[in-house]
Amino acid sequence: MAKSIQAIRGMNDILPAQIAYWQHIEQQMKTLLDSYGYQEIRMPVLEKTELFKRSIGEVTDIVEKEMYTFADRNNESLTLRPEGTAGCVRAGVQRGLLNQVQKLWYQGPMFRYERPQKGRYRQFYQIGVETYGIASPDIDAELILLTARFWKKLGLQHLSLQLNSLGNTACRAVYRETLVAYFTQHQAQLDEDSQRRLHSNPLRILDSKNPDMQALIEAAPRLLDVLDEESRNHFEQLCQLLDRVGLSYEINPRLVRGLDYYNHTVFEWVTDQLGAQGTVCAGGRYDSLVAEIGGKATPAVGFAMGIERLVSLLEAQDNPGLPDNSPHAYLVMVGENTLSAGVKFAEQLRDALPDFRLQMHCGGGSFKSQFKKADKSGARFAFVLGEDEIAQQQVTVKYLRENQPQNTVKQTDTAYLQSLMSV
Ligand code: ATP
Ligand code: MG
Repeated sequence: MAKSIQAIRGMNDILPAQIAYWQHIEQQMKTLLDSYGYQEIRMPVLEKTELFKRSIGEVTDIVEKEMYTFADRNNESLTLRPEGTAGCVRAGVQRGLLNQVQKLWYQGPMFRYERPQKGRYRQFYQIGVETYGIASPDIDAELILLTARFWKKLGLQHLSLQLNSLGNTACRAVYRETLVAYFTQHQAQLDEDSQRRLHSNPLRILDSKNPDMQALIEAAPRLLDVLDEESRNHFEQLCQLLDRVGLSYEINPRLVRGLDYYNHTVFEWVTDQLGAQGTVCAGGRYDSLVAEIGGKATPAVGFAMGIERLVSLLEAQDNPGLPDNSPHAYLVMVGENTLSAGVKFAEQLRDALPDFRLQMHCGGGSFKSQFKKADKSGARFAFVLGEDEIAQQQVTVKYLRENQPQNTVKQTDTAYLQSLMSV
């Protein structure tokens, strides 16, 4: 046998045993987004490297060390998307979508060269939601409330909302100076990354996960304390809207997020049930990005959630309310010449009852082995076609999970067969 080939480290196969969680999350989210009037958009997974450098920012973890970047055959630098916002803005500008309010969403794989561990992979999946053209905090509130409703729909608990404001460009510029002064005073305590960022991107230092620097970061001056009036109003109005509907949150002045493009509102939904990778959803406002990508200045706000982490949380909380996808019935055929009658019966049933989940036995074998497979399939019933049934155009229905007498009915008794879907 040839040596088998392994998947790339940090890239998972999502196997059938797990897929019910994925489909559940995707379907529930789609239904919810439909109900709020959001429309799906699908972008390529590959973009020009320049797009991410310009939008996410050169001095960020993602651009400095996490991107899958390579030259194509024409020597153009391309990058597998590490997130969806940049591509969504690029598409919106290029396709002329952003001249009116847009409420968009997408889902799909993202790629980051990170150290793989639980909840952190090199290919992972996000559902992202973005809105364009609305500057007021009502839309920030809508997005946050939409996520809260989603947790409720999934039956998820122990998720808490962290909220902060990064203010507008003007007050961030003032704050930047204050912060540089503070960290310069304590330069000896900065790690290598932070030393480098001290002048290129000092806010990023607040985002450091280095435990040795937490005390220093904790004591740093807070942007929230120096917001100008416009920024304070935006943030206060958002908080009031959330208060009004009773959604609780914690204001976290250290929350700056790992990408450069945010202003005003930033938020994260976090849980203590997933260990170190506890953020399941994160987002914020990014009013200047559209112009930076070459579009007309357009206010924007959005978020993305990590599907792997949501799947883990559903599993951990053991309360997924997953839809049952197991077959209603498994079709067993015994005796000579029953195969073609079986195929015909299956076709008839599928025509009459498109939602009936019928698994037809294929591949022959004894009565006993077919029944074993019927049992393993998780089906509630076995439909048995033997020579007698076929002669009478009947089918025998056996309960596989309960102690109930079997029934032999006409193959055309659609009403009875349909009733089996709901017993
Ligand atoms: P973290 O601080 O965990 O690295 P991040 O700030 O880099 O997260 P975002 O870019 O905001 O993450 O992505 C939004 C969400 O996507 C995260 O909250 C998380 O749920 C998920 N996510 C991000 N990176 C990964 C990854 N490497 N593997 C799995 N999920 C991820
Ligand atoms: Mg990250």
